[in-house]
Amino acid sequence: MASPRDTPQAPVRPGQIEPSRATIMVVDDDPAQAQHTASLVSELGYRVRLATDWIEAVRMFDDAVVDLVLMDAVMPTVDGFKLTRMLRARMRSFVPIVFLTSLREPNARAQGLVAGADDFLHKPVRPEALSLRIAAMLRIRQLTRVLESKSRELELMANQDALTGVGNRRAFEACLEREWERARRYAHPLSLVLIDLDHFKEVNDRFGHEVGDALLAFVGEVLEMEISGGERAFRYGGEEFVVLAPEQGPERARNLAERLRRAVAGRSGAASAAGRRTCSAGVAGIPAPGLSSPGALFEAADRALYAAKERGRDQVVCWVPELAGEPLPRTG
Ligand code: GH3
Ligand code: MG
Ligand code: MG
Repeated sequence: MASPRDTPQAPVRPGQIEPSRATIMVVDDDPAQAQHTASLVSELGYRVRLATDWIEAVRMFDDAVVDLVLMDAVMPTVDGFKLTRMLRARMRSFVPIVFLTSLREPNARAQGLVAGADDFLHKPVRPEALSLRIAAMLRIRQLTRVLESKSRELELMANQDALTGVGNRRAFEACLEREWERARRYAHPLSLVLIDLDHFKEVNDRFGHEVGDALLAFVGEVLEMEISGGERAFRYGGEEFVVLAPEQGPERARNLAERLRRAVAGRSGAASAAGRRTCSAGVAGIPAPGLSSPGALFEAADRALYAAKERGRDQVVCWVPELAGEPLPRTG
């Protein structure tokens, strides 16, 4: 048998984890076997962590970034099959699991596959086979990580407004549904602040679309800076923004809206080529009579916003039931 030092190490290719940066967890209840496998792994240049029972294995898996698991199939109490299921259930990122099986366990492969094993190695483990298997599994691990990070990026993009960096309308709608359900279930308050820039069309007309865009980005920044805790800001569309304020009734949300309105007016002069700009805001919150759906809550804030525009702009109006009957000609 070739000594571990003779084992050729596959060259590191792009997309592959460098051995010294990969952590491999060896799980084996037999201390001699465990030590043997661990030293082979370590000779290949990988970082190795050794667990001799399932409790240690689970703890280690939670605490450290493990890139690959070499798992003994037969162990007392919780065997490799059960432990594989447990680890799979805790994984937030894909980690390959390779089973170490002996010829005396003819069904181990089939059982291992069902439990979620990705590959198998015969015991006693031979250095060449181990080296190749580890390299192949780590390549899959690395490719999966790239895909996982791309999919997180796409998810973020799908929910973010590209111009302002705040959540987009799609994210707002999902968030409103979620927060509405929560507020109703626990009988907690929930408020919504709808903000619309005043005479924004004029900014585009007088200073150009780019200045308009920069002003929108500035408003996004102001909202992100001013909101706190569970509050969340979104761009609803055009020059209209919305802030969701869980756990806040309309009175507290009015203060929030006032603060946002003042921040936009106060800072826009220095920040925007269009000079000082103002905005109007409509506030609605539950509990309130007649507001029995997320749609009704949004419409109430919209009516309050319309009233703020009607009353001269640059102000905050809180929804009251009397506003319910007023006509609503605006559409965006
Ligand atoms: P009001 O005070 O009544 O809200 O008047 P307004 O001019 O702000 O409202 P109006 O709805 O008439 O105009 C909104 C303008 O916003 C029209 C549209 O061209 C512009 N707009 C919408 N989205 C964007 C954008 O992404 N960038 C820029 N630069 N302009 C946008
Ligand atoms: Mg406007
Ligand atoms: Mg508008």
